[in-house]
Amino acid sequence: MRSTTSFAVIPFLALIVGCTTTAPRTIGIKPADARSELVDGNHRFLAGGMNAHSWQQERIVHTGEFGQSPSVGVLTCADSRTPPELIFDQGVGDLFVVRIAGNFEDVGATATFEYGYSALGMHTILVLGHTKCGAVGATIGGSVLPGNLPVITNAIRPAFTGLAKPTNGADGKPDLTPASEANVRWQSKQILLRSEILRKAKDEGKLTMLCAMYDVDTGVVRFLD
Ligand SMILES: [Zn+2]
Repeated sequence: MRSTTSFAVIPFLALIVGCTTTAPRTIGIKPADARSELVDGNHRFLAGGMNAHSWQQERIVHTGEFGQSPSVGVLTCADSRTPPELIFDQGVGDLFVVRIAGNFEDVGATATFEYGYSALGMHTILVLGHTKCGAVGATIGGSVLPGNLPVITNAIRPAFTGLAKPTNGADGKPDLTPASEANVRWQSKQILLRSEILRKAKDEGKLTMLCAMYDVDTGVVRFLD
């Protein structure tokens, strides 16, 4: 059964609640628009003008009935401050998300993106790191960790090859941002190195790889070129 809220009234409702003038999408994100959609969504998030909520009910009904076709795969940290759907103001059915501490690539993450690309129509992969990442800090710290935790640091450590030791930031603590950026770029490369399917897709122009950093102090996403 369809929601009683028609798409036609949603822009009007958006005006009432003070949302931005960005029109809510009723279908997925076009490949050429992926980066700008994410940038616009982050701006809505920062401005408190999130509009995804205005059409979530429509999305639930549509994706439940017709299935999902997410546009953008996201590999990001399990950190509770980095929920992709919120910080990019995206709706049900838009993002195909893998979250793991330190946003590192492993065979499960890459297999997930192969599934997203091959079976669901996902056309973009974003590797999203963030400032003040505990997993990055623990890897730089180099302490012996208990249990299964070395799985995380062992997967991140190669990203720091050749990287200078972190200098202290304004807060007197090591600035982990350059290391997190290096990790993002490294993990993005690992996805393509492991996956012939995704490598071929990128070479044929059917898959776009994006890297970005999220600032946990400001909420701003900064794309890395
Ligand atoms: Zn993190």
